[in-house]
Amino acid sequence: MEFVEQVVSNIERSEIIKDAFDNSRLNLIIFPTEQCNFRCTYCYEDFKIGKMKPELVESIKKLVLKRAPYLNYLEFSWFGGEPLLAYNSIIEILEYTNSLRNKYPNFSSISNITTNAYSLSLERFTKLVSNNVKVFQVSLDGDIMTHNKTRLLKNGRGTFNKIWNNLEVLKETNLEFEIILRIHFHPRNAEQMESLIVKLNSEFNDERFKFYFKAIEDLGGENSKNIERMSPNKKLEIKKYLEDLVLNQRQIFNLKNSYVCYASKPNSIAIRGDGTLAKCTVALDKGENNIGKLNKDGTLKINSEKLKYWMSGFINWEKNKLACPHKANEK
Ligand code: SF4
Repeated sequence: MEFVEQVVSNIERSEIIKDAFDNSRLNLIIFPTEQCNFRCTYCYEDFKIGKMKPELVESIKKLVLKRAPYLNYLEFSWFGGEPLLAYNSIIEILEYTNSLRNKYPNFSSISNITTNAYSLSLERFTKLVSNNVKVFQVSLDGDIMTHNKTRLLKNGRGTFNKIWNNLEVLKETNLEFEIILRIHFHPRNAEQMESLIVKLNSEFNDERFKFYFKAIEDLGGENSKNIERMSPNKKLEIKKYLEDLVLNQRQIFNLKNSYVCYASKPNSIAIRGDGTLAKCTVALDKGENNIGKLNKDGTLKINSEKLKYWMSGFINWEKNKLACPHKANEK
């Protein structure tokens, strides 16, 4: 049996410390809305919180203003719900943030966004990229037949063609970006994936597009019962099969072996649609995940006891706890 190291090696530790404990870096994960135009059959979110109010958008700008003099690197991760349903709030915060770069020359900011890409028009994309949104994560659940069974609009209609057409348009630009196509597999769509990969090989043979094969996970919520379970070995086997079908292997995306979730990192925080602060973007109902509030003046009120729960992986450098403190602490 292959021996798998369960704790982070000393070499990796210094890299992780540099990244996670650096006060000059900050990762703000923002839920500009928790509403979504999709109703994926496996989604864990409950959509109870809507769009951020204008006062909350102002408070985020105040937070950025307070932190900018001390930061070298601010990374926004736009999340939701579907963040593009609050496109104007995203642009407002980004334009404000970018304006601070003249005042604080050491300050830089970059963004990534997790979007279903349904309303990712060329105009929006161009504006986002020009505001330093460089990484887009977009999910596909297979080719049209299988994707349209699970990634549905609120009205139950399929979404594949619209997403695909949007991606085709973006490919024709000469903009600098990375689109990570997160390709969800499960026991029933793994075989039909072949036709999707053939299409990707011919139409997206462009290294700005990366392919990230990922099993659909049970992330809790109402739809948990809809998710078919797979053993870790089965997942690895399907993933390898799919990756081998990709012509340009440089287009395959995978997380690093020593992956540390942002929920573990002290310099990362999520701001939900109602101004609540969180660490994990999945366990949204969990009491420990409600770690505080963004105040009106842009200061953060944080419960440090709850923070310890999320950072507990650093005590013994356990890989699984650092990679997912939510799952590891629940066991
Ligand atoms: S703690 Fe686990 S569930 Fe939460 S965001 Fe990180 S990896 Fe996902």
